[in-house]
Amino acid sequence: MTARWPLFLRARFGVEDWYVEAAQPERVAQSMWRSLLGTLIPVVAITVLLAVLFGMAVIRRSFGPLERSLGAFSTPRADDAQESIIGDTASDFEPLDDFVRRTEAALERSDRLHLALAEIDHKILTADSLEATIACILPRIPAVLGCGGASVLLTPALGMDEGMLYSVVAGGALVRSACADQMQNVRSLVEADGPQPLTEAHGIPLDTLRQGGFNVVRAFPIRDTRHLVGALLVLDGEDCNPNADRLGLAFADRLSVAVSYDRRKAELAHNLQFDALTGMANRQPLLNRIARILAESDAQRRCAIGLIGFNRFENINETLGLRAGDELLRLAAQRIRSVIRETDMLARLAGDQFVVLLPDADERDRAIAAAERIFALFDKPFLAEGVSYVLSASIGIAFAPDDGAAAEVLIRNADTAMRRAKERAAGGIVLFDEVMNDHVKRRVWLEHGLRAAIGTPELQVHFQPKIELTSGRVVGAEALLRWIHPTEGAIPPSQFITTAEESGLIVPIGYWVIEAACRHFREWRKAGLHLNHVAVNLSLRQLQDNSFADQLARRLGAAGVAGHALELEVTESMLAEHPEELSRVLQRIRAQGVRIAIDDFGTGYSSLAMLQVLPIDVLKIDRAFIREIGSGATGDAIVGAIIAMARALGKELVAEGVENAAQALALERRGCRIAQGLHFAEAMPADEFLDFCRRRQSEAEDVRHAQRA
Ligand code: C2E
Ligand code: CA
Ligand code: CA
Repeated sequence: MTARWPLFLRARFGVEDWYVEAAQPERVAQSMWRSLLGTLIPVVAITVLLAVLFGMAVIRRSFGPLERSLGAFSTPRADDAQESIIGDTASDFEPLDDFVRRTEAALERSDRLHLALAEIDHKILTADSLEATIACILPRIPAVLGCGGASVLLTPALGMDEGMLYSVVAGGALVRSACADQMQNVRSLVEADGPQPLTEAHGIPLDTLRQGGFNVVRAFPIRDTRHLVGALLVLDGEDCNPNADRLGLAFADRLSVAVSYDRRKAELAHNLQFDALTGMANRQPLLNRIARILAESDAQRRCAIGLIGFNRFENINETLGLRAGDELLRLAAQRIRSVIRETDMLARLAGDQFVVLLPDADERDRAIAAAERIFALFDKPFLAEGVSYVLSASIGIAFAPDDGAAAEVLIRNADTAMRRAKERAAGGIVLFDEVMNDHVKRRVWLEHGLRAAIGTPELQVHFQPKIELTSGRVVGAEALLRWIHPTEGAIPPSQFITTAEESGLIVPIGYWVIEAACRHFREWRKAGLHLNHVAVNLSLRQLQDNSFADQLARRLGAAGVAGHALELEVTESMLAEHPEELSRVLQRIRAQGVRIAIDDFGTGYSSLAMLQVLPIDVLKIDRAFIREIGSGATGDAIVGAIIAMARALGKELVAEGVENAAQALALERRGCRIAQGLHFAEAMPADEFLDFCRRRQSEAEDVRHAQRA
């Protein structure tokens, strides 16, 4: 042992001293450690240095490209800055490089997309045509989607026969090619997964697309609300933008908005021009077209107008209901359309009236042949709402320029001819010039004759008795105008009242009837006949004469007849058409005690509400309803309902047109008090009327005496 020394543990742990004993001298023992440290330290230092250098290199390589790409995103890139951001030395970071490049491209496309969509939205709102919007959208698509080209295919719009393919060709011009309705094919393209080879089978006008050298198509749906109305065709875009599906849909959605908007606008305009029920043109486009033809055509050229009406069409609406009536009109329009030429025009004027316009009817025979074809269409019955129905047509034809040089005149004259045809039981075809000769001549003749007849014995007032059903007594009379023409004999009011109204002659004639009725009423009373009242018919023209109420008061005064002795009959249709105007004048009349009756009640569509407020005393059930009594349950029920209504309204009820005892009995049983009609007596001159009443009164006395005895 060469050395021994204590360890310094005692003070710390309170144990016995520990000793180190060395077998060699300290210097010899430590020399080995010193030589080991001499080599270890440089090795460690070099290793640390190397590690630092390597780390720095790695950091530089990692952050350098990121810094540079950040710099690139924050400042817009020039178009020529297409070289790799990292350069060719960065092979270790290719995935990052690729990612950054793609992100950059995506951002750029997204920028372009948003810009394009914003412009498109603006265009949809401001462009005045769908084509302008399409012309704005289409050229942007290839750049955003990275495809070869794009087209828009649309199904036929309202009123069109053909669909349309829009493409943008070199130079940016929008090209349109018409195409048949290819919806089936478009649907299969839209539903297909991914791009499809462009083949004839798709039915798209391929020429246009092939000119552009396109082979592959991908279709995105264009919808009007929920219906497919077309497709956005992306051409040769098989390896374009990975987001092509989403982007294509975004463009197609914009197109859907534009197309829906456009079609809605067109629909509104169409409804103004076309009849919603039949889809045919309505009055205005017809007038426009006739006016155009008349303006264009030289004097040699003729056009023809055929006005078609259906005989007793009102009956169909009444018996089968409005729905069946509408269905019949639709079917009739289709039939007519099927036998006229493409260049001819079919329009619905109103209700059951159609007009066929033949723009070039140089030969009258051609127009007549067309009318015969149309007339023959109605030999076959129609099936509407499950019921078979036969329509018979009446057709009036007017030619331009012979029968009128203005659209309105032509239509009116064709209408006159049609009405003449309707007067025949089986309808038929009537040319206006056939009618014109007799019709216009007749009107002029009637007007002339009437004017001359005023104040002469040719015009007479006859009286039809009104009978109290329970007693059989005559309680009143209706004054009916008669024209006894020296050569023609008796001309019925149905033939001359309209002419009198149109010419205004009804006003003086009407005052004269009132005077005559009042005069006879007073004479009868002097002769011992005490009637409750005498009734006189009024036309609208008479009530529209502002001085009517005053003139009436003057005439009642002059005749020495009290107001309540006069009853004035106003038709229900007059009241329904002019309720306010008539209500005012009727109130002034009624203030004089004069009674007001509604004539032809049940035919004029007046409402219960109106009946309650109008100043009226009597309802006269139209003879059409009386005729139905005993004919079946419906007719009886209607008369029953009218009687019940009159009672509920507190009005007196008169039945007109009673033609047999059964009707009289049925009315009496149902509580109708007064009736008139051929069953009792027709209208007769005033002196005969007095005799009739005396006879009737004494007969009634006899019956009463007999009953008493
Ligand atoms: P209205 O007021 O409905 O007159 C009743 C019509 O029915 C009269 O025809 C009358 O003769 C007829 N008639 C009477 N009983 C029967 C019947 O049992 N069966 C049938 N089928 N018919 C019957 P009229 O005299 O030819 O008069 C026709 C229309 O002319 C009248 O219809 C009335 O609207 C109008 N009218 C007649 N006289 C005048 C008048 O002085 N002034 C005005 N403004 N119109 C008049
Ligand atoms: Ca009457
Ligand atoms: Ca009547």
